[in-house]
Amino acid sequence: MITVIDGPAGSGKSSTARAVADKLKIEYLDSGALYRTATLLYLQAACDEAQFFQLLNKIKVTFSYYDQQFHVKVNDDAVTDQLRTPKVAQNVSHVAAMPRVRAFINDLMREAVANGVYIAEGRDLGTAVFPNADLKFFMKAALEERARRRYKERKPDNPELTLDEVKQNIEQRDHKDSNREADPLQKADDAIEIDTTHLSFEQQVEKICSHISD
Ligand code: C5P
Repeated sequence: MITVIDGPAGSGKSSTARAVADKLKIEYLDSGALYRTATLLYLQAACDEAQFFQLLNKIKVTFSYYDQQFHVKVNDDAVTDQLRTPKVAQNVSHVAAMPRVRAFINDLMREAVANGVYIAEGRDLGTAVFPNADLKFFMKAALEERARRRYKERKPDNPELTLDEVKQNIEQRDHKDSNREADPLQKADDAIEIDTTHLSFEQQVEKICSHISD
């Protein structure tokens, strides 16, 4: 059984999906964290594509959800704490546009989901990765509100960060994610749309839980 939530950055997908996973005691899958992990490897390879793909072929990526956080390991090294830096945010849409990267991450996700009950969130899960998902949601919110949420979330770990920087990054990523050739950010025809601009967090969680329990 799988429920997917797609939508642009800061629309509330990940905090909502985590709360739903905790409430219903199911697994949580953060596909953005996997694209961020690939980006970390790309940066380690000094942005050299040939070197990056060699690295990708050699390593093993594993993930699990516990203590309200999605944890990722590359081989035996925990990388979770390195995934939310501005440098990764600036490069992730470029890396995510590479079809080989998407194929690598899609395989990882499909393998995991075959063995459990999941709520997963991303950009193309309802359209490309899990077109037969049991339930699909598409979350959206006004840009200003999304930037404000991301800023509040990231500022404590990145003291230099400004609201303007966050807004610009979100706008650029949305543009790249929506316009790339390989599996762009898109609402599936059969997804339930939720505009979270004026919803409280509790209302977002409740909306999704009530559909799953139906
Ligand atoms: O969700 P998050 O903001 O962490 O995602 C980071 C980036 O990963 C997105 O901006 C997008 O470029 C990429 N991504 C993607 N497809 C997904 C999930 C994330 O291309 N399913």
